[in-house]
Formats: sequence, C-alpha cells, structure tokens
Amino acid sequence: MAGSDLGGRVAPAGRVSRPKVGVLALQGDFREHLLVLRELGADAVPVRRASELDEVAGLVIPGGESSVMDKLSRTFGLAEPLKKRIAEGMPVYGTCAGLILLADTVRDAIAGQQTLGGLDVVVRRNAFGNQNDSFETDLDIPELGGPPVHAVFIRAPVVESVGPKAHALGVLDDGRVVAVEQGPLLGTAFHPEVTDDYRFHSRFLDKVRG
Ligand code: GLN
Repeated sequence: MAGSDLGGRVAPAGRVSRPKVGVLALQGDFREHLLVLRELGADAVPVRRASELDEVAGLVIPGGESSVMDKLSRTFGLAEPLKKRIAEGMPVYGTCAGLILLADTVRDAIAGQQTLGGLDVVVRRNAFGNQNDSFETDLDIPELGGPPVHAVFIRAPVVESVGPKAHALGVLDDGRVVAVEQGPLLGTAFHPEVTDDYRFHSRFLDKVRG
C-alpha cells in the first residue's frame, strides 16, 4: 500500500513512518488506544463508520463488551466491511473484547452474538469467573523480547484452542493461552493500553508499516 494513499510520510526506506490507523470507537476503551498509538508516532483516528474504515491501514479493536460492539457494528453497517478488510489482510489488533470479535469461534456468547472472525481460535468469554474476573500478572512473551509483560485482565476471555493458522504468543502459568498471532492479526486477552508497556501496539504498527 503506497504511503501517499494513506496520507502518511514515506521514510527513506520506503516505509510509511506515520501510518494512518484506526481504533474501532463504537464502545469500550478506544480513547486509551488512540493515545498509545499517537504516542508511538501513528496518525490514529476513531472509526465509527465504513467510510472511516476505508481510510486506515490497520485497526485496533478495544476492550469493552463484545456483544455490544457486535450489535453496534452491525447496526452501523461496519460488520461486513470489517470482515472484508480482515479477509484482505488488514493488520488488526484485538484486546479483550476485541480478541473475542476476531475469534472464529466464541463460547459463552450471548444469544445471537456474532463474531467478525479471521483468527483461527476458539475463545471463551468471561473465562476467569466472578471472584477472579480482574487480576494482574507478569507474562513472558518470548517473541516480544525484553522483560515480562505486566498483563491486566478485566473480565477477560481465554483462548481455549489455537487452530493451525494461529499460534500462541503468551500463556499463563497454568498453560492457558492469552495472546495469539496469525499473520497480520494479533490478539490479547489483557489490556496493554492501561499500562505503559506498548510493545504489543508497536508490534501491530510494525505489521502496518511492513
Ligand atoms: N467480558 C467482556 C466481553 O465479553 C470483555 C471484557 C473486556 O474487554 N475488558 O466482551
């Protein structure tokens, strides 16, 4: 994709140095993601309609409530354009509810809840139950390099199975998968945007710039 198409400056190496990326802004903590992406040098904009989706080279789907985001995305005519862009290979990073929306299969969904899909995983909503539905832990993510990631889980889902197209990036001590990747798609059950560790957002932006 040419930098000029996206209004981004083209670095000497030919890479877009300031890519235009979106954050799905129907519901949830989209503002935090916009701030992180801007801090990392991206031209980050909220996406609420299909015409706005057309303008961006990558998308973050934030945490929030997946069933609400699902309904709103269909109401606003965004669900089909989103599925199309995902199928075309647009880089997408889903956190928590965003991971649920990216999963091909969702367990414990509410009646009628749909998923955008694309990520070859089975995800279970609210997998950590009531007592422990919010917690923090340090996670080793070998592919990120560097120190462990401080991971904040808020009524988080878990990846119950990883299909052949995807692979696990991060697992809890008990072996449960909480971060996955599949080519241009990235998903975490936790919320890096509420910490000051932006390595997942950087990894997403590398995919957009690549
Ligand atoms: N439990 C929420 C859902 O099912 C996800 C929570 C979150 O995004 N922090 O959508």
